[in-house]
Amino acid sequence: MSLRLCVDGDRWRQHLLHTVSARPGIVPVAKGNGYGFGIGSLARRCEWLTTQSEQTGTGIDVLALGTYLELAQAADRFSGDLQVLTPWRPLGAALDVSETLSNRVIHTVSRTEDVRDLTERKPDARFVLEQLTSMRRHGMTRRELVEAARVLDDRRLAGLVGVSMHLPLNTASHVGEVERLLNDVVSTGLPTRTVFVSHLTIGELTRLRSSFPDFVIRPRVGTDLWLGDRTALSVTATVLDVHPLERGEAFGYRGRSMPKSGHLLIVSGGTAHGIGLEAPSGDQSLRSRAATIARSGMDVVGLVRSPFAIDGKQRLFAEPPHMQASMLFLPSGARVPGVGEDIEVRVRFTATTFDRVDIS
Ligand SMILES: *Cc1c(COP(=O)(O)O)cnc(C)c1O
Repeated sequence: MSLRLCVDGDRWRQHLLHTVSARPGIVPVAKGNGYGFGIGSLARRCEWLTTQSEQTGTGIDVLALGTYLELAQAADRFSGDLQVLTPWRPLGAALDVSETLSNRVIHTVSRTEDVRDLTERKPDARFVLEQLTSMRRHGMTRRELVEAARVLDDRRLAGLVGVSMHLPLNTASHVGEVERLLNDVVSTGLPTRTVFVSHLTIGELTRLRSSFPDFVIRPRVGTDLWLGDRTALSVTATVLDVHPLERGEAFGYRGRSMPKSGHLLIVSGGTAHGIGLEAPSGDQSLRSRAATIARSGMDVVGLVRSPFAIDGKQRLFAEPPHMQASMLFLPSGARVPGVGEDIEVRVRFTATTFDRVDIS
């Protein structure tokens, strides 16, 4: 009766162990919807990964979260340090970290004034300094790092844990950029040789480790860890109702009708789960979507392809998804699934809220 994420546990755990083994010093990332699993579940999994360190050669001592508000979901499920990826600002939840938690938190600081402000409020705060990368999201330029180094030196602050860089996806190679940024760390005189980096391939990591042997490079990984083996993951919805539909017969919230006959399928999964709020995964372009609709011959009624697939074929929404259910149109001739049958759903895991996550 629900939108379910089903996980082949053996396969998934093997992938996690393999990913961790291949990336010593890994910092797992859990944020947002917890990559479909939920942050709490991933935090527990990090604790489990640590118990496997004899096999992987690396324990998990830091878990990265997206925001300060997410700390509460991880804090009593994972016992190590908690890095917050959203840069610290003298605002909101960043100022409300409880006394008991605050010594486990590693802040991300991305402006010189915030180095001053944070350490004035909390002289023993631990933090990473974020460097501005070609992403240009958050971070400090070389000049700002020089200034930050001076502040740390003047105040004899010891809370610097490392530097942090967030790299774009899909670039040919990150090595040149990371080398430049690491050289900046050296030349600014910052008293650290630890760097937290996202989106490096194993090859890039190996290259950087050999050209900067005095640095400790800590790869920060979310997607490739939790979702890296898609064959271990499947998403299903349940068929809740099936109605034969005559050509021209009215249905739905808006009393629309179809130019051909078939079946109306009511399946679990709607806007509350994130269904239908974006193009089906793996097919993002508007043009390809338009082409699909046109091929189906249903473009006159403005039907859109749904992420629900029956017998391997993605079917059209009969009308826009409802809050917890969707209405699909199945043209006559296709096999009609029965009530209670599970059908496949192709979703983006980071944008979907599942009713259940079943890990075997
Ligand atoms: C989300 C995030 C990551 C992890 O990204 P993935 O693509 O899921 O591996 C790493 N670093 C920062 C700063 C992030 O915001």
